[in-house]
Amino acid sequence: LRASFTELSTYAGCPLKYRYLHVDGRQEPEVEPDWSHAPQGAVDLAPLRYDRLLGEAVHAALRRWQADVDRGTRARPDDLVRAVLEAARLVGLDPEESDRTWPALASGLRAYAVGPWPARHTIYLEHSAMHRIADANGHELQLHLRADRITSFDGGIAIIDFKTVPPHALQLRADTWQLRTYAIAAEELVGFRPHGIRLSLIDLRSNAETEIASGAAQLRLAHKQILAAWSGIAARRFSVARGHRDRPCWSCGFRLECRHSLATARPAVA
Ligand code: SF4
Repeated sequence: LRASFTELSTYAGCPLKYRYLHVDGRQEPEVEPDWSHAPQGAVDLAPLRYDRLLGEAVHAALRRWQADVDRGTRARPDDLVRAVLEAARLVGLDPEESDRTWPALASGLRAYAVGPWPARHTIYLEHSAMHRIADANGHELQLHLRADRITSFDGGIAIIDFKTVPPHALQLRADTWQLRTYAIAAEELVGFRPHGIRLSLIDLRSNAETEIASGAAQLRLAHKQILAAWSGIAARRFSVARGHRDRPCWSCGFRLECRHSLATARPAVA
């Protein structure tokens, strides 16, 4: 089986959604989230499509800005903010029109630019690698991983995942699992065995960093989660009739047509 981490994470959240997307090949409809069923902390966030596009623009701008800094350009906050605005306008957004998102994001970007992270030695920017796992029967999972940035850190390495929306509890669980999977695959990601790994989630909207613990027990658990999702996909277990009670129907594009949806409220008509 070949899969990306996002696919495994989709399966772990809702096997049926995985089936719709990756077995049946359906497109996820653009449907407004059902905010009345959103987990605590998610309600204040901007609509998902806007977040996704802005997040992509921020990642693209940050990659270019960091590459310049790595080549010796001064880490200027104004350059980073300008690069994000330009990248956002290229995909049809004008972040400055959004009072809800832009002031906080612009100030978080400025704070990030003058903080310690940009100056750390970059090992890789937006780097992909294939992590191979074998099960007891000799089957192999090829897991496609993509890390936002990997730097030197304290004699070892740091693996960073940038967020442009503060993750709510369910999202944080998936992000934590993802970063721990990167730690498991560190040797394949960087090509050597690092002495120590720091895992950091950096929320660019508030320039807040969350360090994710990566002790042996936590990495074992992440590995077990990978195996559980993989075996479920391989055995074609897509039913949610029993279990998966916290599946994220509230933000699922299939929520109005899926007969197992837990969030069927129709979007308000403007
Ligand atoms: S609506 Fe809910 S049950 Fe249906 S596919 Fe989406 S997350 Fe899964």
